[in-house]
Amino acid sequence: MATAPGSGSHGPMASPRVLRTQVGIIGAGPAGLLLARLLSRRGVDSVVVENRSRAYVEARVRAGVLEHATVELLEEAGVGERLHSEGLRHDGVHLQWPGERHRLDFVDLCGRSVWVYGQTEVVKDLIAARLAAGEPLLFDVRDTAVHDVTGDRPRITWTDADGTATELHCDAVAGCDGFHGVSRHAVPAGVRRTWERTYPYAWLGILADVAPSTDELIYAWHPDGFALHSLRSPTVSRLYVQVDPDERIEDWPDERIWEALARRLATPGWTLRAGPVREKGITPMRSVVTEPMRHGRLFLAGDSAHIVPPTGAKGLNLAAADAWLLAEALAAALVDGDERLLDGYGERALRRVWRATHFSWWMTSMLHPATGPGADAFDRELQLAQLRYVTSSRAAAASLAENYTGLALDR
Ligand SMILES: Cc1cc2nc3c(=O)[nH]c(=O)nc-3n(C[C@H](O)[C@H](O)[C@H](O)COP(=O)(O)OP(=O)(O)OC[C@H]3O[C@@H](n4cnc5c(N)ncnc54)[C@H](O)[C@@H]3O)c2cc1C
Repeated sequence: MATAPGSGSHGPMASPRVLRTQVGIIGAGPAGLLLARLLSRRGVDSVVVENRSRAYVEARVRAGVLEHATVELLEEAGVGERLHSEGLRHDGVHLQWPGERHRLDFVDLCGRSVWVYGQTEVVKDLIAARLAAGEPLLFDVRDTAVHDVTGDRPRITWTDADGTATELHCDAVAGCDGFHGVSRHAVPAGVRRTWERTYPYAWLGILADVAPSTDELIYAWHPDGFALHSLRSPTVSRLYVQVDPDERIEDWPDERIWEALARRLATPGWTLRAGPVREKGITPMRSVVTEPMRHGRLFLAGDSAHIVPPTGAKGLNLAAADAWLLAEALAAALVDGDERLLDGYGERALRRVWRATHFSWWMTSMLHPATGPGADAFDRELQLAQLRYVTSSRAAAASLAENYTGLALDR
């Protein structure tokens, strides 16, 4: 990060501090942090600005399932060590409905696995690597704004944690600021196109200090609603139940959650271990895709351009794939002067996004029954028919396995 000549003092009325870098990155989530790391490995400078504190970003509990290709990317980024020592390789998942539980063996079906390693840990590793390399990563900034993205000299402005107004001049801006960020809105409404599907249910998720009752994830269809038994480590479990989108978390004391989980996950000869709940929250389920992912010198990556319901475990993995595609394209443009990959970035990223959007919608539609009075019995029978098919046909199981473990990056 260079301070431009002529930048002034930082009093309230002073002109802003002016910085210069090659790529300005908004957001220190998985997309922004991984992009910064991959760019650095390709000899491209960047500055990352984040409006939350480091502690907040490192504690935000979200995803936990890493595709094969995401693991390879984290290795390439030089942050694979703790993942391999503390993460858990999973070679399959269980699908169940009342009275039946079936295992899909990913290695047998498609030759790949996934890794269970919390997003919090991925983010901690990437932040530590960036700071250890002495590369700029600014937390607690305010009023981030993007300017002049259709010209050659785009800018990002913000106010630093100490109140200093700052202006960053760059060759390209990467909007990695998630679904509630500002970057997407820098694409004019007349240019932006959004596809959206809101599902009529939500997930109530808990993180519990109890040894998992399973060594691989269990996806359970139940007439009361879907349940998922996931995990974070040998001593920490992550579990979810389907609830109505307007449920209030206060109406779900821990005992009610454990009771719902035990009923929906029940299978003969198996018991669910309950324990202290460390954290709980309700997440709405929706699919959103925004196009274009490039507008002038602004490039969107991760949740700022698309979100998926968590059933397919794809959000973090899509963010990582975007970061890789964008790092390759920016390095080709800024190091070798070849803009062709940048021109194709949006189209290449969206191909993968729509595939994952379809898979996430398909898993969600198969596993979440309508509940309550008037629930559609026809739909339920279709869901059960699909579950029986996917657990009995090798071709159908292989398709699920291939999508769940993730398609190869477009290398
Ligand atoms: C409960 C839950 C469970 C999930 N489970 C899975 C799963 O199992 N597998 C999976 O792959 N995905 C899962 N996801 C999705 C996954 O967490 C997201 O897709 C992932 O975080 C996207 O990364 P990102 O970097 O694009 O966005 P984010 O992680 O949202 O990061 C964006 C960053 O930008 C910052 N920011 C926002 N606005 C500004 C601003 N104006 N200025 C500066 N900084 C800003 C934010 O504070 C944040 O740090 C889950 C999500 C949730 C909520």
